[in-house]
Amino acid sequence: MKKILLRNLPKVDIILKNKEIENMGKSVDYYTFLSCIKKSINQMREEILKTEDEEKLRLLGENLEENIIKNILSLVEKEKRKKIQRVFNGSGTILHTNLGRSVFSKKIGEKIGEILSSYNNLEYDIEEGKRGSRYKNLENLISQVVGSESALVVNNNAGAVILCLNEFSKNKNTIISRGELVEIGGSFRVPEIIKFSGANLLEVGATNITHLDDYKRNVDEETGVLLKVHTSNYKIKGFTQEVDLKELVKLGKDKNKLVIEDIGSGNLVEFSKYGIVSEPTVMKSLEAGVDLVTFSGDKLLGGCQAGIIVGKKELIDRLKKNQFLRAIRVDKITIALLEELFTNYLDEREAIKNIPTLRMITEKVEDVEERAIRLSNILEERGIKNKVIETKATIGGGSMPDEEIKSFGIEFIFERKISPNRLEEYFRKNKISIIGRIEDNRYFLDMKTIFLDDIDELAQNIQDIFLERGLV
Ligand SMILES: *Cc1c(COP(=O)(O)O)cnc(C)c1O
Repeated sequence: MKKILLRNLPKVDIILKNKEIENMGKSVDYYTFLSCIKKSINQMREEILKTEDEEKLRLLGENLEENIIKNILSLVEKEKRKKIQRVFNGSGTILHTNLGRSVFSKKIGEKIGEILSSYNNLEYDIEEGKRGSRYKNLENLISQVVGSESALVVNNNAGAVILCLNEFSKNKNTIISRGELVEIGGSFRVPEIIKFSGANLLEVGATNITHLDDYKRNVDEETGVLLKVHTSNYKIKGFTQEVDLKELVKLGKDKNKLVIEDIGSGNLVEFSKYGIVSEPTVMKSLEAGVDLVTFSGDKLLGGCQAGIIVGKKELIDRLKKNQFLRAIRVDKITIALLEELFTNYLDEREAIKNIPTLRMITEKVEDVEERAIRLSNILEERGIKNKVIETKATIGGGSMPDEEIKSFGIEFIFERKISPNRLEEYFRKNKISIIGRIEDNRYFLDMKTIFLDDIDELAQNIQDIFLERGLV
């Protein structure tokens, strides 16, 4: 029996003639496609070899080709899901670290496409007709927006901090409050980053309280930098005290030491104007007199992965000569994206309108409700029962950990009970993955992070899921 089955295993070219398989092949590259077919045939061979029960073998034999084909389809789907691709974010977390943090507007996407597929003036000065600097225009733009003497862009904020400390605190003490020795995002640990830069870590104060005097007593000729780190993703509550930035700056001036601040999220907007807890802005730190401020490009700034350093020109000029810069420099895509982004920031109203991250944070709750009602109605028309519910969205990305934003969501209603985990899986494994949220044992889509322009397409995808999975 086994021998017959093994002999009957279909060959690749027979499988390729199947209509379903042929269609599937169009959706994935040929190499992946062929390896899924071979893998499926091999898996069936192994299944036959290890099966001893005659009845089970007979069943395998009856549906040999059909089973292999079903397996190929699922293997191909799995392969496709591994690639970086668009997903619908129904989690309600605006800066979702697993889902690519901040989002760009479609307009920026078009501009970048053009730059990627043509030559450009990355290191060419068109006006003068000679070699130019890849950073100059962007640096000027950033300086203008934040009101700094100069600016520098590197690969990410971790790189920015390492560069600054390596240049100004190598083999010297970096003085930092104990309460700021945090871990952010799983891989950025302040103590480790300081050591990695070649600086000596000198922690002062206690976890909850650090006085100016704690810094003062430790400043001496061994001191390289006074470092302040914004504890973005965590808050100490109760009996706490940290040193005011202005006092720290004054101490630095008196003792002739640099004050550098890692502010984490590159926030340029005074959010309290929009009824949201305020988060320190880059401008405020510069106004307080901090020598260098570093921040991320893809958190509240709303851009791409990057680290931005702003502050005194003579210091930035020194950073530009540091050899480590070569290892963390950015390429044309980052420069092009950030140029477009910062152009929006020249006028805050434009920034809030055109940068999705800012728009989602500041929009009126009625706008979210409108999107929820719209999706709800389309689904209802197609026979998918649902209701609009009140939810709480979050900013995420290690920013404003306490801040919850009023939002609305869509919950589905079923006659028979269906587990939220199963629903979550069905949505997640859809052709365009839909990431929802489970809370209090119910699954829903938070509309905070669903864009108005995507609603029709999302509705179609939900309908497809309900049909394919027999939910209607
Ligand atoms: C997020 C964060 C970082 C790390 O920034 P990356 O751009 O992800 O390297 C460093 N410091 C602080 C305070 C942060 O919030």
